[in-house]
Amino acid sequence: MTAAHPPSPPARAPLMALDEALVRLLAQAAPLSDTETAATFEADGRVLATDLVSELQVPPQDNSSMDGYAVRRADVREAGVVLSVSQRIAAGHAAEPLRAGTCARIFTGAPMPVGADAVVMQEDTREVGGDLHAVHIDAVPALGQWVRRAGEDVTRGAVVLPRGQRLSPASLGLAASLGLARLPVVRRPRVALFSTGDELVMPGDVTPADMKPGAIYNSNRFFLRTLLQRLGCEVSDLGIVPDRRDLTLAALKTAADHHDLILTSGGVSVGEEDHIKPSVQQLGTLDLWQIAMKPGKPFAYGTVRRDAGAGADVDIACHFMGLPGNPVSSFVTFLLLVRPFLLALQGAGVPERRPVKLPAHFDLPRADRRREFLRVRRNAAGGLDLFPNQSSGVLTSAVWGDGLVDNPAGSTIAQGDLVSYISFADLLA
Ligand code: AMP
Ligand code: MG
Repeated sequence: MTAAHPPSPPARAPLMALDEALVRLLAQAAPLSDTETAATFEADGRVLATDLVSELQVPPQDNSSMDGYAVRRADVREAGVVLSVSQRIAAGHAAEPLRAGTCARIFTGAPMPVGADAVVMQEDTREVGGDLHAVHIDAVPALGQWVRRAGEDVTRGAVVLPRGQRLSPASLGLAASLGLARLPVVRRPRVALFSTGDELVMPGDVTPADMKPGAIYNSNRFFLRTLLQRLGCEVSDLGIVPDRRDLTLAALKTAADHHDLILTSGGVSVGEEDHIKPSVQQLGTLDLWQIAMKPGKPFAYGTVRRDAGAGADVDIACHFMGLPGNPVSSFVTFLLLVRPFLLALQGAGVPERRPVKLPAHFDLPRADRRREFLRVRRNAAGGLDLFPNQSSGVLTSAVWGDGLVDNPAGSTIAQGDLVSYISFADLLA
C-alpha cells in the first residue's frame, strides 16, 4: 500500500526581522498631542509635555555641608587659633554677616553668613574650657571648604527636565526642588485589553478543583494589565473574548471608538479558532504578520477603523496589536515591541536596548532559524545560567530569569562565549 502524500503546506511569506518590525511600529506611533497636568506626587512614569525651566537656583543660597564653624580664612592663618563664637546658625534660619575675628557655629544646610568663606568641621575644633563661646580651630581650611554653592545643582533659567522625559522617582524630587507641585504631562494612552481563548478561566471565578478538562487560568491578563499601567496607560480591561468571529468583531468595534490601542493576547496564529487576524482585516488593516523571533513569532500589528460619530478622532484609526497566547511569547513581545510603541506614543524617547556582553555558563548546541530571546539569570560568578525549559508556555522561566539573552538567528552557544544580555530591570523600567 502506498501512503498518500500529504498536501504540501501553502507557501509562507518570509518572517519579518524584529528590528524592521520595530522601525515600522515606531513609524506608526504619532505622539499624542493632548496634555494635562498631574500632581507631582502622582506623576511617576508619566511623560513631560513641556520643558521644565527653573525659576530659581538650587540650592537657593550658599550653605554648609557640615556641622562645624563658618570662618573667614583670613582669620585662620595657622592651626590652633582661638576664635570667639559670635552667632549660631541652624538650617532654615537666617544668618547675620560674620564679624571679623569671630566664627559662627553652623549646621548642615544652614545658610553661610556673609563674609565667611569656609567651614571647619566640628571634628577639627575644640571648645575652649568647656565654654561654648570660643573654639580652637585646629585645621587651616581651604577656600570654600564644606560650602555648597548656590546654584550648584540647578541654575536659574536652565532646562532641568526636557519635554519627553519619562518621570522617575528622582526626577519627581528634582521637579519638587524647583517648587513644582503639578507637572505638565502627556495624557495617558487609552488601551483596550482583551484575552481570547475558550480555554481561559479567571482565578477567583473557578477553583482549581472545579476546573473543567482543558481549562487553564488566564495568566496573560494579569501581567499585560500591569505592564500597561506601569507605562502610564489607562487600561480598559474587556476580559475574555470567546473564540467566535461575531464576538471578536464586536469587541474590536467597540474598543476602537474610545481607545488609542487595542491589545489582545491569543488567537493570532493561523488555526481555524484564531479569529483575531481576519476580524482585524475586516475592520481595518493588518500590516505585520509574523516576526522572525523566538518566542513571539505570531505578533500582529494593524489598525481598526473608528465609527463616524464616535467620541474619538475618526480620522485616526485605532492601533491594534495582537500578541501570541503563549505567556512567555506574550511577555517578551510586549517588552520588545509594545513597550517602545507606547513610549513613542507618549512622545518619550524610546530607550536604546543596551545589551551587555556576559559569558554564557551554559551550552546551546542547537541553533534556531529565528533570533532567540533566552530566559537567563546572572550568577554569582559573573556569568549567565540558562533556564532549562525554554518553552514559550513556561512562564516560570520569566520569573526565575532576570533577563534575556539576545541570540542571533542560526547561532549556537558554548560555555564561555560572550553573549548579549538585556536585563528585565531595563525592559521593565
Ligand atoms: P493561541 O495564541 O490562542 O493559539 O494560544 C497559544 C497558547 O497559549 C495556548 O496553549 C493557549 O491555551 C495559551 N494561552 C492563550 N491565551 C492565554 C492566556 N491569556 N493566559 C495563559 N495562556 C494562554
Ligand atoms: Mg487561542
